[in-house]
Amino acid sequence: MYDFTLSDAMSEIMEIKAQYISERSVFVEGARMIPLLKALGATDVDLERIKLVSDDLPKDPTLPFRESRNGRFCFDFENSRVYRLEAQPFALSAEEDFVRHDSGQTRVFEEVGDNLQLNTALQALLVFKSLVFHGVATAHRPKLDYNSPGWICTLFNLRTISTPELQGEPALEGVHSDGVDHTMTTFLGSQNMTPGSAVTFLHDMREKNATRWNETDPELVLGERGHRHFLDTLMVVDHERKHSLSPVEAVDTTRTATRDMLIFFTRKPVLEGHISHPYDSLTAHERLPMTVELPQLQEKVLADAGAFVAQGALR
Ligand code: FE
Repeated sequence: MYDFTLSDAMSEIMEIKAQYISERSVFVEGARMIPLLKALGATDVDLERIKLVSDDLPKDPTLPFRESRNGRFCFDFENSRVYRLEAQPFALSAEEDFVRHDSGQTRVFEEVGDNLQLNTALQALLVFKSLVFHGVATAHRPKLDYNSPGWICTLFNLRTISTPELQGEPALEGVHSDGVDHTMTTFLGSQNMTPGSAVTFLHDMREKNATRWNETDPELVLGERGHRHFLDTLMVVDHERKHSLSPVEAVDTTRTATRDMLIFFTRKPVLEGHISHPYDSLTAHERLPMTVELPQLQEKVLADAGAFVAQGALR
């Protein structure tokens, strides 16, 4: 396959960014992601390895049909780097448009290890995400500190599992938001999953929270996307578009079906009074350190992509 230079990759990523800005979401097919990630440092060996990273996931703390790990990272644009943050419990509330039996509950996930965070494909995905969202103006969420220079990224590595007894729901909560500014979802692989299942639907913000994916108002559906191929990636401005997902369905219903994903939530640090305020540390992880350099974006490049260029746009 034709290998991109870094500068080819940067112009293509700026095209993707322009689409993200104008449409408030962008879907990038895996076949297009691969050369971009390689230009950003992903090796062939790591691109193969990341396909298997979901094979040893532990049980999810609250969902019986899911296995999971998470890890927190900081996009530190002031120092042109992304680094691993210490572990913290995780919480999402109804106030953030997340209505589920465990809304408002503090959840503790097992941590993402070096096998994922030191994988160059994962690191390239973090760099890719930073290039797409950096400098993009979005509707502000309440109780987030938009004057803070840092951005907190919570990475989830998830396997959703459907068995003959239990249906795997990638979004049991129905229509929701992730409580962040920018959500990115990347497909790693699936087994025995029908191609028409686990579809992501995007909804206008007027759609009612917790509505099941198949009971939503068709007039408020803004698009649908299926993650089918390795590295198919969707980015959404999370406070401007809600989303829902259909369940994971098995081709052979007598056997288990699985769907492996990476989910990257990114938001500004929270202010006092926000449910995550006690769990929003910006301290680096001592036992599992990781730092990756971020390429710098110039104001002109941002302006060409149509990004909001004003004082503070690059924070
Ligand atoms: Fe979500």
